[in-house]
Amino acid sequence: AAAAVGSSVIPIVNKLQDIFSQLGSSSTIDLPQVAVVGSQSSGKSSVLEALVGRDFLPRGSDICTRRPLVLQLVHQPRRPADADADEWGEFLHLPGRRIYDFREIRREIQAETDREAGGNKGVSDKQIRLKIYSPNVLNITLVDLPGITKVPVGDQPTDIEARIRTMILSYIKHKTCIILAVSPANADLSNSDALQIARNADPDGSRTIGVITKLDIMDKGTDARNFLLGNVIPLRLGYVGVVNRSQQDIKSDLSIKEALAREESFFRTHPAYNGLAQYCGISQLAKKLNQILVQHIKTVLPGLKSRISSQLTATAKELSFYGDPVESKAGQGAKLLNILAKYCEALSSMVEGKNEDISTI
Ligand code: GDP
Ligand code: MG
Repeated sequence: AAAAVGSSVIPIVNKLQDIFSQLGSSSTIDLPQVAVVGSQSSGKSSVLEALVGRDFLPRGSDICTRRPLVLQLVHQPRRPADADADEWGEFLHLPGRRIYDFREIRREIQAETDREAGGNKGVSDKQIRLKIYSPNVLNITLVDLPGITKVPVGDQPTDIEARIRTMILSYIKHKTCIILAVSPANADLSNSDALQIARNADPDGSRTIGVITKLDIMDKGTDARNFLLGNVIPLRLGYVGVVNRSQQDIKSDLSIKEALAREESFFRTHPAYNGLAQYCGISQLAKKLNQILVQHIKTVLPGLKSRISSQLTATAKELSFYGDPVESKAGQGAKLLNILAKYCEALSSMVEGKNEDISTI
């Protein structure tokens, strides 16, 4: 999937992680989590699914996401001989069971939601943890959260809104969490629950991306142009408008690939979005996320490098204390540090936009 989140940084991060594992150090690159927030049915699950490029999340007009779903994407090498067995999911509550059929993954999310939160619209803050193994992903964690609702239905307690807000905040308050604030374009955007709760957790907007869904079903004669441009509610990292699959599309089994092609043609032909290509489409959202990830890696690299350096010095000292020859070990370490320094440089040029990978995803 061309739009898959992290696709352009996969090779770099994998190589860095290889280097770290050779050093046998505890140093790793902890990539930030990405969480989606917004009101119920704003399209949060649809956005995450499009980013991952596979159909596996329960979506619908009713409340579908009723427990936090922590989705750990795990990169693994492609197996050309056995392409069908390349991608699978594994739930923490079903250890050792690889599920290759993504429809079955969705059914299990629904069943596990019911087991904990009941069959009658109840909401629980107990996580469902799912790992997706795939050659097309970066090791990153995405969190799908229940949406903000105002009026209790079914088994929901009277304070449902406050409970859901507390649950959402417990995820997005962490400084390393990137917030995708999802607002539907067919509701009043200046009243957006998503932007409001995101601002609560991230007042200066340094880690919030605004995502505007449902651009295809706005009132005739209206469009989201000014909103995407940040003229209505400015946001430091800006906005991306998207068109996900409608309920009808889901019923008629429209694939993600078809939906992405249709989205592309929507933006290409709609006069209001003329000249706004960089603000439009799931692929642009993936690109924005990738840039943030690269920036993050660039920020944490110097710290990792100095940790490794001091580890190297300590190890060399210890070795000389035992009277062992140190040349070969230290030589190996210096070589690895060299490689690391090269990657830092490569990353810097990527961030400054000199690298093809970033601009062509
Ligand atoms: P969530 O509750 O925020 O996770 O929202 P879902 O992803 O479950 O979507 C809610 C409903 O809105 C589903 O029926 C989706 O098919 C529909 N939907 C989501 N995004 C769009 C969009 O961009 N356009 C249209 N027409 N429908 C959408
Ligand atoms: Mg959902």
